[in-house]
Amino acid sequence: MSENMLAAMYYGPKEIKIEEVQIPVIDDDGILIKIGAATTCGTDVKMYVRGYPELPALPMPYGHECAGVVAKVGRNVTDFKEGDRVVSGIAAPCGKCYYCKRDQPVFCTDRTYLIPGGAMAGGAYAEYIAVPGVVAKNNVHRIPENLSFAEAAMIEPLACVLYGIEDLPEIRIGDSVAIVGDGAIALYFLRLAKLRGAFVVLSGSHKDRMDKARSFGADVVIDRHEVDDQIQAVKDALGGFLPDIVIESTGQPHVWELCVNMARRAGTVMLFGGCKGGTTVTFDTRKIHYDSLTIKSPSVYIQTPDLLKRCLYLLSSGEISGREFISGTYPLKDTEIAIQKHMNREGLKFEVIPPSFWKD
Ligand SMILES: [Zn+2]
Ligand SMILES: [Zn+2]
Repeated sequence: MSENMLAAMYYGPKEIKIEEVQIPVIDDDGILIKIGAATTCGTDVKMYVRGYPELPALPMPYGHECAGVVAKVGRNVTDFKEGDRVVSGIAAPCGKCYYCKRDQPVFCTDRTYLIPGGAMAGGAYAEYIAVPGVVAKNNVHRIPENLSFAEAAMIEPLACVLYGIEDLPEIRIGDSVAIVGDGAIALYFLRLAKLRGAFVVLSGSHKDRMDKARSFGADVVIDRHEVDDQIQAVKDALGGFLPDIVIESTGQPHVWELCVNMARRAGTVMLFGGCKGGTTVTFDTRKIHYDSLTIKSPSVYIQTPDLLKRCLYLLSSGEISGREFISGTYPLKDTEIAIQKHMNREGLKFEVIPPSFWKD
């Protein structure tokens, strides 16, 4: 194995370079994954467009959703061997801190990251990624045979949505759920809400994505460009009633405000899309208090082993068709084009393939 590999490096907004860098080194408990595919994600796009808080020193490796085969194992590793198809969580909880002990490992304060440098450090758009021993021991998973690398790579965002829907035990069979947004996260929510037996109204604005929403089982799809008043349109779709549950999935402050106003009395609003830091929103206190709204806004710091395992089953079972979320395939050298396609909303997610797995 040569000592170098190709990797996409992030220099700052709108500046991605493909460079030859050293293959990362593994520790005695770690494993080296030869990446088969990486997938683009809204977070990569946010970083590409506007930068991101708490980034490590630049330039840094880029991308955080990938899967591949084990290329090398540390001398103490017995759980995995060369050739195993695997996907790794981007961090592992410690099992010992306050949050882990309170059974809330997604908030673990002593997590070990897949990539040194923190949550936002990357390395998925590359030929290899090194998994530190702590993560290899507790948050690397074998990929079911019927899933491609790209499908396995998307368990990271899917796990966040699984966590989100489980924070909504309110959804009962036959309840009405409005989802505002039409990106991959919104469509994962759509699938999971359908699995919960809900009647789902999705409000979107991109034709292809709205078509996907229909094929994924949305009961009503509203094109927000076609209606004067989204709240009224949702109400009309529900026979004159506001939805029981509203899920926001755009990460825009004005949409957070819209979603709070969309929920019925004693309803629940989940504000899921993270907005730009420092932005603020305004809600009518009367709406929140006298309408007895429940507002939730979960954030997931670690996709725990439990969440990731279940996402692999969800994808493998076909209840969520990962393939349908991949809108195009690009070689590693065209990582930036894949990001731009995602940025321009020309699809849901794009897969990026390193040279040794690229087929013309
Ligand atoms: Zn992601
Ligand atoms: Zn912990």
